[in-house]
Amino acid sequence: MTEQLTSKKAMELENQYGAHNYHPIPVVLSKGQGAKVWDVEGKEYFDFLSAYSAVNQGHCHPDIVGALTEQAQTLTLTSRAFYNDALGVYEKYITGFFGYDKVLPMNSGAEADETALKLARKWGYLKKGIPENQAKIIVCADNFHGRTITIISMSTDPDARNDFGPYTPGFITIPYNNLEALSNALEDPHVAGFLVEPIQGEAGVMVPDEGYLKRAYEMCKAANVLFIADEVQTGIARTGKLLACDHEDIRPDVLILGKALSGGVYPISAVLADDDIMLTIKPGEHGSTFGGNPIAARVAVAALEVVKNENLAERAEKLGKIFRKEMENIQSDRIEKVRGKGLLNAVVIKPKNGITAWDVCLKMAENGLLAKPTHDHIIRFAPPLIISEEELMQAIEIIKKSILSFD
Ligand code: PLP
Repeated sequence: MTEQLTSKKAMELENQYGAHNYHPIPVVLSKGQGAKVWDVEGKEYFDFLSAYSAVNQGHCHPDIVGALTEQAQTLTLTSRAFYNDALGVYEKYITGFFGYDKVLPMNSGAEADETALKLARKWGYLKKGIPENQAKIIVCADNFHGRTITIISMSTDPDARNDFGPYTPGFITIPYNNLEALSNALEDPHVAGFLVEPIQGEAGVMVPDEGYLKRAYEMCKAANVLFIADEVQTGIARTGKLLACDHEDIRPDVLILGKALSGGVYPISAVLADDDIMLTIKPGEHGSTFGGNPIAARVAVAALEVVKNENLAERAEKLGKIFRKEMENIQSDRIEKVRGKGLLNAVVIKPKNGITAWDVCLKMAENGLLAKPTHDHIIRFAPPLIISEEELMQAIEIIKKSILSFD
């Protein structure tokens, strides 16, 4: 049995035996409930990262954990070599929930993005008539779609790319939130798809201009190009609507989901599309041993039910407005900008006297709130959507106090 570790010991173990591919805030968590987590010494924190928006439904939601444990005691994995009695039920549920003909189940967000890229290429060859091996996908600068070789090939982040070449070809990179660049790129007749995050999360919660997504969608339609939305981070109620694309009333041709599709209890991702696109992939051409397993199927249904039954989109919309207003009211010249939608928000910190966003995050942790900087000077604030208004106000006080402590 594992003995109770101190934080110090747990960090030493990770440091000694784990690859150094992350740089965590130095807290060691051992329990989570709702919007809160606790470290091994029992200190309580508000979780304002939500595992990069995977825990939208709150830590250890009883309905989701219930579905997980019940299914885990019955049947865990069959592979797709056989049918199982949970997958079809889930497929019917999720396609109805989001309004698509078909779903392709995967595990991580990166795998779902890879799936969407393959789907777009396949559709490009079989339906659009792009000559063999000529298909291109338009992507945006500063994107984040995951960590595979192909995905980092379309990244512009040197940390993600450097020394991992050679890169996968077939991408055209344009600036985000720039319709003219999109229009120019769409002139290439070999373009099969435009892959875009409705809000760029990892880039620092970059919210595009109002109307950008709608116009981009229309331009893709006119050019017979698939509009592919990566809603791995923005989806499942995070931005105040079920999908961030709903803010502009557009329905992506290919929808990519992950993270909160499981409420954070299990790696579950999905690609949704209509038959004309999805059925271009035939048996044996794509898949995953764990994708669509019975536990994932049951967990995802439970997770989506929580989103609906607890009105998480409406909560995110309402609480997000309060959060941004309160942040904008903080009287500190350390705050350069506040931006976001729903409960996906960022505060841009002006580095001053050697104090950076990292220092602010350490101070907030000391005061009982966890968040993580992205790109040195930006702090993302994304609590579980089940957070109560009262808890939100307590958390805002901690953020205020922490930022003002540096003045
Ligand atoms: N796409 C977006 C928009 C993301 O934010 C992320 C992760 O942060 C991914 C894809 C990758 O998901 P995963 O880490 O589950 O592979």
